[in-house]
Amino acid sequence: MSGAPKVTIAGAGVLGLASALALAEAGCAVTVFDPGAGPNASTVAAGMIAPVFEAVLDPAARSHLDLLMAGRDRWPGLAQRTGVVLDRSGAIAVGDDAWLARVTAGLDALGLRGAEIGRATALALAPGLSDRMDHAILTREDWRVDPEAALPTLRAAAAARGVAFRIEAVTGRGDADVLVIATGATTGLADVAPELVELSPIKGHIVRFPGPVAGVTVRTEGAYAAPGQGGLAVGATMEPGRADTLVDFTVAAPLLAAGVRLFPALRDGRFEIAAGVRGATPDGLPMAGWSKASGVVLAVGARRNGWLLAPLVAEVVAACVTGRDAGPYGARLDPARFGTGRSGGWR
Ligand SMILES: Cc1cc2nc3c(=O)[nH]c(=O)nc-3n(C[C@H](O)[C@H](O)[C@H](O)COP(=O)(O)OP(=O)(O)OC[C@H]3O[C@@H](n4cnc5c(N)ncnc54)[C@H](O)[C@@H]3O)c2cc1C
Repeated sequence: MSGAPKVTIAGAGVLGLASALALAEAGCAVTVFDPGAGPNASTVAAGMIAPVFEAVLDPAARSHLDLLMAGRDRWPGLAQRTGVVLDRSGAIAVGDDAWLARVTAGLDALGLRGAEIGRATALALAPGLSDRMDHAILTREDWRVDPEAALPTLRAAAAARGVAFRIEAVTGRGDADVLVIATGATTGLADVAPELVELSPIKGHIVRFPGPVAGVTVRTEGAYAAPGQGGLAVGATMEPGRADTLVDFTVAAPLLAAGVRLFPALRDGRFEIAAGVRGATPDGLPMAGWSKASGVVLAVGARRNGWLLAPLVAEVVAACVTGRDAGPYGARLDPARFGTGRSGGWR
């Protein structure tokens, strides 16, 4: 094989698009395939780039803080190269004293610190927030993008670097040197890459109150409210084992209640409910790297943190395909860690 590797990417979610961009920047000839049948997890997501509160509030993320930080730290560069707007205003936690004490203890346990802020500061940071609280905890370490705007921006940036797009499903490697599987939660290509059987689905409902909203992300017990141009996204349920995107109002109702509790003016406003499916691996980290199947690379399984981790996953994917060192996180994300096969290659 000589010349630029010819790469097919299956999936135009955030992992597929970020990988396409990284591969095109590394000199590969890239085509992204996606049947585009409907919204994917990337469009449904809230877009939080939130290593700190994810590590504190999600037990599955607790031991991966360094990796989440590494994903976050690649965002300013990606945003600059693509034009994606990165909101670095931060996030606050609000709740009763017992819950805030648990958040503080969680931060302490991870060697992190949040700033305790008073009501007036919290209300200035999150306009419209209920004033029924005395204080909040602020971190400036958690950021956010707006998926509705960021996904097309990533796609346009990839296209500008020569990536081609096809509205079609991938069924195999075809005539590409490398197939990158970035198909989200589905295991449809498990006959091509056996490691995909490690994925399990986690459905998530999210409520959107339309209209542009400014301010920081607000975390509270059992919910978050992430503002953006498209509205306030209040999420999200975790429904392991569910792979459908049917909206169930009764399941989403607690999110609706949390949104109104946090922002009382939303009580009479319009809202939309959506559901997406996250792909999760047994250890909660993505699989990024060679499959045991020859010429196949995986970029799947980012669970709750696909937006956060996309630039890191893309970096590992591009390093594998171009034969460079995948860096300190390559081994942590290697699909071979589950023993479903030894990593391969394409040359
Ligand atoms: C409610 C909710 C809120 C979330 N909030 C956040 C958040 O705030 N921050 C964060 O970091 N993450 C968040 N996530 C997680 C994040 O959305 C996912 O981890 C991420 O979007 C996964 O991206 P992906 O590219 O792997 O998959 P997807 O976005 O699902 O994209 C996969 C694509 O592959 C395509 N495809 C499937 N099969 C084929 C095939 N055979 N050939 C070609 N294409 C194919 C599909 O059509 C789809 O477009 C959230 C998820 C949910 C559900």
